[in-house]
Amino acid sequence: MQGVTSNDFSSARDTPRHDLESSPAATVSAGPGPGPTPADLLRRLRARGAGDPVTHVERVPARAGVPAPWPSWAPAELRAAFAKRGVVAPWQHQAEAANLAYEGQHVIVATGTASGKSLAYQMPALATLRADPRATVLYLAPTKALAADQLRAVAALELEGVRPACYDGDTPRAEREWIRRHSRFVLTNPDMLHHGILPGHAQWSGFLRRLAYVVIDECHTYRGVFGSHVAHVLRRLRRQCARFGATPVFVLASATSGDPATAAGRLTGLPVTAVTEDASPRGGVTFALWEPPLLPPDTGSGSPVPPQATGEHDDLHQVRRSALRETADLLADTVAEGVRTLAFVRSRKGAEVVAANARRSLDDAVPGLGDRVAAYRGGYLREERRELERALLHGDLLGLASTNALELGVDLIGLDAVLICGYPGTRASLWQQAGRAGRSGQEALAVLVARDDPLDTYLVHHPEAIFGAPVEATVLDPANPYVLAPQLACAAAEAPLTPADLVLFGDGAKEAVDQLVAAGALRQRPTGWYWRHRERPEVDLRGEGGAPVCVVESSTGRLLGTVDGGSSHFLLHPGAVYLHQGVSYVVDDLDLADGCALVHVEEPDWSTHARDVTDLSVVSVRSYVDAGPVGMFLGEVDVTSQVVSYQRRRIATGEVIDTRPLDLPARELRTVAVWFTLSPRSLTLAGVQPADVPGALHAAEHAAIGLLPLMATCDRWDIGGLSTAVHPDTEAPTVFVYDGHPGGAGFAERAYGTASAWLRATRDAIAECGCETGCPSCVQSPKCGNGNNPLSKPDAIRVLDVVLANLPG
Ligand SMILES: [Zn+2]
Ligand SMILES: [Zn+2]
Repeated sequence: MQGVTSNDFSSARDTPRHDLESSPAATVSAGPGPGPTPADLLRRLRARGAGDPVTHVERVPARAGVPAPWPSWAPAELRAAFAKRGVVAPWQHQAEAANLAYEGQHVIVATGTASGKSLAYQMPALATLRADPRATVLYLAPTKALAADQLRAVAALELEGVRPACYDGDTPRAEREWIRRHSRFVLTNPDMLHHGILPGHAQWSGFLRRLAYVVIDECHTYRGVFGSHVAHVLRRLRRQCARFGATPVFVLASATSGDPATAAGRLTGLPVTAVTEDASPRGGVTFALWEPPLLPPDTGSGSPVPPQATGEHDDLHQVRRSALRETADLLADTVAEGVRTLAFVRSRKGAEVVAANARRSLDDAVPGLGDRVAAYRGGYLREERRELERALLHGDLLGLASTNALELGVDLIGLDAVLICGYPGTRASLWQQAGRAGRSGQEALAVLVARDDPLDTYLVHHPEAIFGAPVEATVLDPANPYVLAPQLACAAAEAPLTPADLVLFGDGAKEAVDQLVAAGALRQRPTGWYWRHRERPEVDLRGEGGAPVCVVESSTGRLLGTVDGGSSHFLLHPGAVYLHQGVSYVVDDLDLADGCALVHVEEPDWSTHARDVTDLSVVSVRSYVDAGPVGMFLGEVDVTSQVVSYQRRRIATGEVIDTRPLDLPARELRTVAVWFTLSPRSLTLAGVQPADVPGALHAAEHAAIGLLPLMATCDRWDIGGLSTAVHPDTEAPTVFVYDGHPGGAGFAERAYGTASAWLRATRDAIAECGCETGCPSCVQSPKCGNGNNPLSKPDAIRVLDVVLANLPG
């Protein structure tokens, strides 16, 4: 073990610990002295209130790294260059992945934050560039900033003849030609590959002809519809390489995720071997799961933070102390103990609320102490971020509340405790945030504070879903016809499609090509399918749910921001109260033709809540399970929804002032759904009265949507649902859950594939919630179009019991 130092130098995002060692400032221990141990600190926090809010404590032990010898093929010069940057030897997982890639196998390395994944692709890529003076490497990152980080890391190795260069939207025209001709390590992003490099393949032929490796960094970010587009951009890249006789090896790096080999296979269309055993060292963490207590009955407004202020859950009846309030108290308590603490909060406004409440409590105790807590908002200048880092390092600042923006900007090190307000959506982000805790080698405390949400509730009662095997998988669906057809058009515009190409683009490609021919976009000739137009097809990889709607202040013409097309009817209807960076506006007009909403500043004492009606019809069934009284289906559906009215409610009391009609057009969505049916008789036998069936199904639907992110990396806002006591297409009581993106994004498919585990978790989350009749932690939904009515919590459990009893495990 000795002789091995941290080798996480490769990118700023990957390397908090290394920066600690290399930063001269870190040697100044002007911060607070040794505080309480994590166990002592946790004991004091728990003793504060009446009940014990901690549902589980996990000791994540420190782990010694497992070093491996340098691969024999790595040239001495390369080893020396790495050694100069602090890497004496690779860790086991780095060496394993590098060896596979060097042998020519496609490989994905899926390990934790700061495990040094970049070395795994740098080794084989750079060794090959040294061995073959003509070879080239293409590196793809989801953001320009990450590509720039990686460029610095590769350039710092100072290897002769590599000439690494970023090629993205910011690259000056004058430099582009030089890069195409001379760089052998080009760093870019999927958007540039799609819009620039592939359409200009003739100019890139020299580079593509010699392409040895394609590196896809942070590949777990390519999920859903965006991921499905990127999957086809990569197929287009493979096609162009093949035309020039090149078959590059793909090396992918991913955060920890479920089944990375399958996800990488879908993304690239190639067989990929996974390396998942993390052999890098890590400090020990005491990790507590924390569930805020239920409020006494009839004190639903016990929080001094009106829910509206945070834009969260403003439609619901609060029965549990809010996670924001709880996090603010914990932050104040740890700061009072002299413990350097970072609180992660999901929304920017929420971070400000947490910091303000913590400051107030501290000032009440010791005037002036509140000054040592701050909120971090995104968009700071580099110097301001450095100042913040300095203040925390030296102990001038002890507590910071931040959104995840921090993950991308600031290097914070040497924290004693991390508070995570609400599950951040994936295990990968959870560990990334918890990983901020721990001064070099010291034990640290991490606390996950559950929000009143079914998934958070489930997790704090099922620690095995956090600390056991990874559960969520990165989901994408390259067969989505709404992605496949435009991507095939792009491919045809680059070079005529051949029958062999249809195999490359996978399931559904022939149908999509036929449709493009029928629509006049392609022309079939004996030699293949040709793009008929002069202009290239316009395809946006990240475009989802229609064009975004601009929010404009009428009096000044200032653009405040944009709202994605899918949400615009809900959030920007005439009369809607719209919050932007803490300022309240009221919408005067929504111009759908121009994609623009006009607003003025106004802070009424009511909030607005849109209502919609949704209709769903089954188009086709792809697959089903016949389980006696229960049926489970996957198929295509048409969803029609229309926002028809909105309620105005007093902020202070939640009292409904009135309901006003709206005149907005209905919208249609052809997508993929998973649904289950039950026979009426099985429901009666289970004790669900006919009158209670709608509330039972509705409650089960809400909770099932809330728990789906446990199975797939999606957000509950990516999915929709519909339940009904009798549906005309199924002629039975039915619950539908559908992808909220045209053509589907793979979420419903994943739900179908894991139906038993998914609905078991849903059932347990409802049953284990301590509320009486349903709350946001179990069956209420913040996005319900029916005002969370009707809902029956006990009957939802009965419904799910019937499904689980019949469905094959
Ligand atoms: Zn509940
Ligand atoms: Zn609902």
